[in-house]
Amino acid sequence: MDLKLADKTALVTAASRGLGFATAKAFAGEGARVFLCSRSGPALLHAVERIQNETGNALVYGIVADVSLSADIEELFAQIQAVVPGIDILINNAGGPPAGAFDGVDDELWQRAFSLSLMSVVRLTRLSLPHMRQQMWGRIVNFTSSSVKQPIENLILSNTFRTGVAGLSKSLALELAKYNILVNVLGPGKISTDRVAELDKIRAVHTGESEQQVKHQSESAIPLGRYGSPEEFAAMAVFLGSAANGYITGQTVLVDGGLVRSL
Ligand code: NAD
Repeated sequence: MDLKLADKTALVTAASRGLGFATAKAFAGEGARVFLCSRSGPALLHAVERIQNETGNALVYGIVADVSLSADIEELFAQIQAVVPGIDILINNAGGPPAGAFDGVDDELWQRAFSLSLMSVVRLTRLSLPHMRQQMWGRIVNFTSSSVKQPIENLILSNTFRTGVAGLSKSLALELAKYNILVNVLGPGKISTDRVAELDKIRAVHTGESEQQVKHQSESAIPLGRYGSPEEFAAMAVFLGSAANGYITGQTVLVDGGLVRSL
């Protein structure tokens, strides 16, 4: 299938590792110009070099930015617009907020998670839209979690703000359809990244089991019997963000190996 990405520019946020990295690499592999951002300069540089070397695409750029900060997002767009008029494809990703249950979360943690998980999407979308509207074409894919369909124990911040992103995305899909800007949500179930390994470790500490036991239990709850790979997740992100997707908008798609049982 031709994803028609050769003349497109994508921004993938939080992309020095994990799902963001795999997605940025997949876009680059399809010939798109790709901007990556992340908070750490050395990690970002390493990611950009890896993608360039492994895909043979030189049009890959890294810009240091913390997506929870408004000023960083404005600077990110200023730097992008020094190279291109704007981005065609926005992949909104960010690190996950800390794990925890209601009683362990104070106002400051709520505010920080709000900025990281919800306001980042609002701000990045706001700055992407003028160019997308002007050219009457755009794709926005917001990474959330399978928790938008089924909340996950001990992740109250994530459960709360990611459903906010899902509501925002559906509303935007309706508002932006007339500009041919398609907005979708992609929810990972359990994809093998550092973040998932960290969560397994936390759970092992809570339950007193080994990390291997925790992973085995998680895998046995997944109909496909294993964690997904970042590449399997990225394939759907790239399709939804491509010109090959002409008619899917306002949807929440889970890449979860069948984990969530809801329709
Ligand atoms: P990860 O921790 O492996 O990678 C996160 C990336 O985000 C890193 O590159 C990190 O440097 C960057 N980052 C973190 N905070 C940032 C910020 N404020 N500004 C810019 N960059 C930032 O995580 P992952 O597994 O790739 O997951 C990505 C997102 O998907 C997270 O929000 C995670 O909670 C969510 N998620 C992942 C899974 C999964 O199975 N991997 C499941 C559910 C939800």
